[in-house]
Amino acid sequence: MDLSYMKPLLEQAAAEGKALGSFTVWALDVCQAVVEAANLCKRPAILMAGKIEARYAGGVKNIVRLAKLAAENSDMPIALHLDHAEEYGFIREAVDSGFTSVMIDASAKSFSENVERTGAVVEYAHRAGVTVEAELGRIGGVEGNIDVRDEDAFQTDPDEARQFVEKTGIDALAVGIGSVHGVYPFPPNLNIPRLKNIRNATAIPLVLHGGTGIPVEQIRASIKNGISKINVCTELLITYGQSMTKTQSAGGFRYSVPNLFAPSKQALKELFCMRIGQFGRE
Ligand SMILES: [Zn+2]
Repeated sequence: MDLSYMKPLLEQAAAEGKALGSFTVWALDVCQAVVEAANLCKRPAILMAGKIEARYAGGVKNIVRLAKLAAENSDMPIALHLDHAEEYGFIREAVDSGFTSVMIDASAKSFSENVERTGAVVEYAHRAGVTVEAELGRIGGVEGNIDVRDEDAFQTDPDEARQFVEKTGIDALAVGIGSVHGVYPFPPNLNIPRLKNIRNATAIPLVLHGGTGIPVEQIRASIKNGISKINVCTELLITYGQSMTKTQSAGGFRYSVPNLFAPSKQALKELFCMRIGQFGRE
């Protein structure tokens, strides 16, 4: 099927008390692994790419082509989401190219500038039916070209969240509740009481970034309290890389494309199945 818009998928997941996995993609086999896992688990899934992945694939148009190809024979809805974009022109290009969801990340700016920049993206994207996610508060760690040091990371204020959603008209809000991009430098400890307060302040689906390494009971608690989308990137890069190393170091490895790449694709597919299942349990 064609790519789906993200908003109805998130609202459906929220109504069921579940969350969707959003997974970083950069090549066709990775997109296929997500789609195959989604169909095995009978759950929708989200393909996501940021500026770095888009550049690697040769531009946002190519990411759209890859995603469409992978989703072509899917029985489950698949959305394509632009992750952490800061520039209006780049977001417009993604909307025009066929992304079904975009994230504007102006969280480093002041509240009023974040509202202004996010509002402009909402106006443009909604005309094309495209879902908009934005961020309030700062999520720590490194992702792509965004590097938030510990001292700059701060958690989302519930009252600001309510105002932000009302003023911008966004469809989903990425919240800072103690999750971190990349590998956790300390044991993850999500601030569930804060998440509850944000949930009470606004009804839209909430997004958890930095899904790698969060213990399952904290994941469950976050979904119970309003998280409808969980972004996963780091652990899939680790899985892909480790599988590649293992394949090459094993005795009898012969140089052929399936020998080299199929085990990594399979390892990703198993990881996606595990996460999609975990996020999609009631
Ligand atoms: Zn993120």
